[in-house]
Parts: sequence; structure tokens; C-alpha cells
Amino acid sequence: MSKKGETLLGGRKRQQLKNKLTSTDSELNMKNFFLTPGPSELYPTVEDHVRTALRTGIASISHRSSDFKKIFAEAKENLKLLLDLPDGFDVVFLGSANEIWERSLQNLVEKQSAHFVNGAFSEGYAKFAKQLRKKTFIVKTQEGNGFELSEGEIPEDCEFIALTANETSTGVMLPSANLSVIRRRFPNAIVSVDAVSILPCYETDFTVADTIFFSVQKAFGLPAGLGVWIFNEKCLQKAEKMQAEGHQIGTFHALPELAKRAKDHQTPETPNVLAVYLLAKVAGDMLRYGKERMMREQTYKANLLYHTLEKSSFLTPLVKNEKFRSPTVVVAECERAKDFIEKFAALHHVRVGSGYGNYKDKHIRIANFPAASKERIEMFCDCIEGFEF
Ligand SMILES: *Cc1c(COP(=O)(O)O)cnc(C)c1O
Repeated sequence: MSKKGETLLGGRKRQQLKNKLTSTDSELNMKNFFLTPGPSELYPTVEDHVRTALRTGIASISHRSSDFKKIFAEAKENLKLLLDLPDGFDVVFLGSANEIWERSLQNLVEKQSAHFVNGAFSEGYAKFAKQLRKKTFIVKTQEGNGFELSEGEIPEDCEFIALTANETSTGVMLPSANLSVIRRRFPNAIVSVDAVSILPCYETDFTVADTIFFSVQKAFGLPAGLGVWIFNEKCLQKAEKMQAEGHQIGTFHALPELAKRAKDHQTPETPNVLAVYLLAKVAGDMLRYGKERMMREQTYKANLLYHTLEKSSFLTPLVKNEKFRSPTVVVAECERAKDFIEKFAALHHVRVGSGYGNYKDKHIRIANFPAASKERIEMFCDCIEGFEF
């Protein structure tokens, strides 16, 4: 996919590069390819879209103009197609996934929320609920483990269940098929799915998920600074009811206000127009590339990465149960993570992510997003196999 910077080199070329590195690093002032789990490598078409946007003045147009409304509509339409959103779901734009954690809790939870926690991001959502004084129920499992969703003591009448489709800190996926379990247990609850580091590479069960959200700097391969919140009628009704009953659900980014503006392809505030434009374009590019093809390649690349870790003498997959292994964020235990990351970047100009939080020097995290072509991942795996400390 990417034309520039094919910097993963094999055999003799690698040796030449090694020799060169020993003379002077600055001779090779090359940009790294970012296999980091967010921000990450940009999708290969972003550069051209940024140029077009600058040339045509996208960043200067009024957000009340018909030109902006067209961009908003295009972004929404392309996302609906790419994510297979059924009728009855709407899309609005906010600042980040952190913001959507907060807004979803403010707008959709009167008293109680339940959270399935298996790492730093699912924990973050639960922490926001506590800070907003909700009564929170937490079902916890060890980092590296996944959820069947049949476990955990949660009151039957719990209003809101928070799930994480892809726990980015540990590389654990929630299989979409498991969602139906939660619906059977809690027929009336609002089910919220944080899908930040896996959309668009996730087949969401929209008969269960009432709201799902992501930010764009992960699997979409866009510059950070935009959160996308998808919700159904049930969410909107709940927020309206809470508002009518006098609950504090926020101001400009309260869901009813966002939804009202979105009907007219508008945002309440002056939005990041460039970011919405880039999302519209890249979602369109992904549609043209083909969702099925993208998903097939995703699976192929993930299998290759896990296979490489299993063979490696210094890397071990953190997630043991294959069914919970994330296809987009691949995490490995590594005793010398810091050394590996630095040396690998110096040799191959590819930067992988360090472990999250306490695991900074114990894990590495590899972003296997659509921006990395299958040739890129194949070469990456070759270089892992040939790597020596
Ligand atoms: C990165 C991430 C977030 C936070 O995203 P921001 O855009 O930084 O707010 C939330 N949840 C998950 C699963 C993530 O990977």
C-alpha cells in the first residue's frame, strides 16, 4: 500500500545498513514507520488528502457553510457503509474517546453502571463513572484475559453496561459473538462498547450494542483529535428523559444537542473541520479498497504476527487464549522490551509500542492496523526472526 519508506530490509541490505549505523546515525535521517498502537502510522492516502485540503481551503471554511455540511454528510455516510450501521443509529463528532467516556456516562447513566475491566482502558472508563458519582459495579479479570460476559455480580436492573471491544493496554479482544450473552442477562440496559483501537476491523453486533465509539488515531490511521460517537434511539431517549427530569447531562455536547445539530449535518461548536474531512476521505478509501479484503488481510497479518511471536526466543504472546487475541493490537512479553524497541527502530526504522503503564519495560505492543500493508507486516516478521540483541 505504502509507496514511500519501505525501510524493512532483508539480508545483505540489512548488513549494509548495520555497517552504516555504526559509522553515523545521522546519515540515515529517515522517518520511522509507526507500528505503535496510537497515535500510529497514517493511512497511506492521508498525505494526499491533507494536500488537497490545504490547497482548497478546507481548514478555513465556515462550519455553518453548505460545504461543511457536505463533508459532515460524507463522513457519516461512509462510516455507515464501512461499519454496517443499521437504520436508527446516528453519528456525531466530539474531541476524543476520553470525552465520549465522560459524555456517555453523563447522558446515559442516572445511577448505576457496570464495567468489565481487564486493563488500563476499561479501568479508565470505570474511573470516570466513579468520578461522576455513579454507583459502579466492576467485573475484573487479570490482564491478558478476556470475558465470556456470563460472569460477574451485577444487579439485574443495572442501567448501563460498559464493554471494551479491544483492550489496547493488553491486546485482548472481546469477540462480538459474546455480546448476545450480555443482552440475555440485561434485556433493558444500555450496552456501550468502547471500540477505539479496533474499528473499522470489528463486526459489531448492533442488535446488542446501543452505543459504540472510537477515536481516529488508532485503526483509522488519522491524526489525533476527533472522537466519533455512534448511538441509537434508545440512547437519545434516555438522555432526553434524564434532561427532562432535571439531571445534569452537560451543555454543548449533551446528546440531545449533538443529535439536533447532526440532523442538519452540523456540530454545536466550531469543530476540527480538517479532521472530519480526512475521516470522510479515508473511510471512502477503505470502502473502495474493500471491507472484506481489509478484514481478510487483517486476519492474515494477525496470524503471521502471533505465529512469529510463538516461534521467537525472546517474545511470547501475552494473550494465551487464541479466541481473545486482538487482531489489531498484538502484545508480547519481552524481558528486554526497552532494548528491543530502541535497537529495532535503529536497525529497521520501525517503531513498535512499549508496554502500557506498569508494563512499560516488560511488554511490547505492535499495532496491526490497516495502514500497515501485508508486505510491511511480512517484512516486519522477517526482521523479528533475524533480530539479535
Ligand atoms: C486510546 C484509547 C482510548 C482513549 O482515546 P483518546 O482518543 O486518547 O481519548 C480509549 N479507549 C481505548 C480502548 C483506547 O485504545
